Amino acid sequence: MTKGNIGVTTTNIFPVIKKFLYSDHEIFLRELVSNAVDATQKLKTLAGAGEFNGPTDDLKVQVKLDKDNGTLTVTDNGIGMTAEEIDKYINQIAFSGAEEFLNKYKDSANAIIGHFGLGFYSAFMVAKKVEIHTLSYKEGAKAVKWTCDGSPEYEMEDCDKAERGTDIVVYIDDDEKEFLEQSRINTLLNKYCRFLPVPVIFGKEQEWKDGKYVDTDKDKLINDVEPLWTRTPTDLKDEDYLKFYHAIQPGQEDPLFWIHLNVDFPFTLTGILYFPKIKNNLDIRKDRIQLYCNQVFVTDSVEGVVPDFMMLLQGVIDSPDIPLNVSRSYLQSDRNVKKISTYITKKVAARLEEIAKNDPKAFEQKWNDIKIFIQYGMLSDEKFCDAAMKFALLENTDGKYFKLDDYKKLIEGEQTDKDGNLVYLYATDKEAQYTYIKAAADKGYDVLLMNGQLDTPFVGMLEQKQEKSRFVRVDSDVLDNLIRKEDVKPTNLTDEQQAIASTLFKSQIPAVEKSEFYVTYAAMAPTDKPIVITQSEYMRRMKEMAQFQPGMSFYGELPDAYNFTLNTNHKLIQDAIENAEKALENELKPIDEDLKATANVIKAIRDLNKDGKGVPDDKKKDLEDNENKERELRDKKNAIITNYAQSQDKVKQLIDIALLGNGLLKGEALNNFLQRSIDLL
Ligand code: ADP
Repeated sequence: MTKGNIGVTTTNIFPVIKKFLYSDHEIFLRELVSNAVDATQKLKTLAGAGEFNGPTDDLKVQVKLDKDNGTLTVTDNGIGMTAEEIDKYINQIAFSGAEEFLNKYKDSANAIIGHFGLGFYSAFMVAKKVEIHTLSYKEGAKAVKWTCDGSPEYEMEDCDKAERGTDIVVYIDDDEKEFLEQSRINTLLNKYCRFLPVPVIFGKEQEWKDGKYVDTDKDKLINDVEPLWTRTPTDLKDEDYLKFYHAIQPGQEDPLFWIHLNVDFPFTLTGILYFPKIKNNLDIRKDRIQLYCNQVFVTDSVEGVVPDFMMLLQGVIDSPDIPLNVSRSYLQSDRNVKKISTYITKKVAARLEEIAKNDPKAFEQKWNDIKIFIQYGMLSDEKFCDAAMKFALLENTDGKYFKLDDYKKLIEGEQTDKDGNLVYLYATDKEAQYTYIKAAADKGYDVLLMNGQLDTPFVGMLEQKQEKSRFVRVDSDVLDNLIRKEDVKPTNLTDEQQAIASTLFKSQIPAVEKSEFYVTYAAMAPTDKPIVITQSEYMRRMKEMAQFQPGMSFYGELPDAYNFTLNTNHKLIQDAIENAEKALENELKPIDEDLKATANVIKAIRDLNKDGKGVPDDKKKDLEDNENKERELRDKKNAIITNYAQSQDKVKQLIDIALLGNGLLKGEALNNFLQRSIDLL
């Protein structure tokens, strides 16, 4: 028997391993099983190189629990180790056998699970003692037993193991007893070993007999040794992909489609990404893509490895180029990982383009489900955006879909304004904005439907990408202003008429919660609506964007501002104004004259300030008095008009109809409207 010190430079590495090496102690199982798989794979490689002549079709790994002795054993029938090899690979732990082996068999050893660092020693996270019983495949090799109780001292002696391979016997520590539980180990094996390339056996299959489950003779296989992503895409059918999807994402609806990734240059990467059916809420769960390294599960938190917007996808990615036992921050800054992320983006874009091209109908049908993903991608990733400009779709209010370029061609003729800007009209609610959509359609315009959660930022992005184009919601101004074909006709009202009309209507608009109204005028067609309520595109978008950007919450708090545009060519509006003018003529005349005189005085005083030195001190009081007077006169005038307006049911009716058309007439105001309508009848 030999005794010795494990060749580590620090005096005692084990407390470190135990506490800090991995945050999750459970990872020891992954490490031990991976080493065992590795050992069997090496034997295959040797057989391939003609250096091993025995059979390789019975290679397997077995995990056993012995509660009485408090052990967990991982057994393999791989290459085993000689005493010298234990010394080299285990005792001198700074040395990594896998690396040396890989160098030697570079070309054929791809399947060997990579460099695990301190893999074997991770057993000490949960062990009070570890034994290795091993017999090398080499001819004439002697079986060796290695024992270590967690101090840097080990013992090595001959033993009588008859079968080739290695048993790693872990004496589970008293405070890690969970790792002696059948169900816990089963869960862990399913998590980490489900797709390992060599059969992993844990216990027996069970059957229902005499009212309880009992073990059968059949070994229970944990893993699928040839998971779908390792197979050739051309050999696979849709059913295979769907079946695999449901195996990794139980309880989900069928995915919309999938992408089988397969690349070996400039790095190796395989995988399958599925586009799930995304429910209405943008629920980004971060555990939908699983990361593997040569079929060993690494993690399901893939931030940084795949671009953010791909978090909406599900599936697996497998690459030996992804470092295994490293921290998240390291993973994110790793150059290989960055390359992988870029590659996946490119591949996903290319596949989407292909689907859109080969089967445009199917793509259109799925558009509403994948739209959020594609828009998210376009908004967050420049490269993806450029690629997606080719296949992203726009939907119009008739339910037709268009590629961006096609849509541009469609509207170019009708919807270019006098300055050469292409104006895209859109609605966010087909029902609520029906009147506006209809009015636009009557003019020969097309209206897009933009009711998605990301449509507001998406529209902003398109405006930036496409020169001389503008998106405006159909109800953000009167149509003639939205797409200005010629210089707008100035309103045909005089200043006096405007002053009357403004108060006449504004005073009768019922209070609507968190809303403000401004009366404006436009000389529309006599057949257009008498009053059109519009909401400024800019303000509305600012408010909508406030949802996405925390710093903008100020905008979110603002009331909704509406323009109450009076169609001054409409008979009813003209009548209302003319009637008011006539009815109030006598009453307003003296006030107007007074106003004019006061305005003149004010102007004269202000003119004294031409040299910029300010109003002379002795005139200041005078100015103030006149300004107050002017205000009082205005108030008086407004009071007269308001008082008159109160008796004007037609004015009220016109206002309420406009509000009703926009879903803004509610509660008491709605009730008043109904009552007035009945009275008018
Ligand atoms: P790594 O796997 O990164 O090399 P480990 O500490 O896990 O690091 O293992 C060190 C070496 O010990 C391995 O490279 C391998 O040569 C050897 N080894 C570990 N487990 C086994 C095993 N079950 N069968 C054969 N060799 C093994």
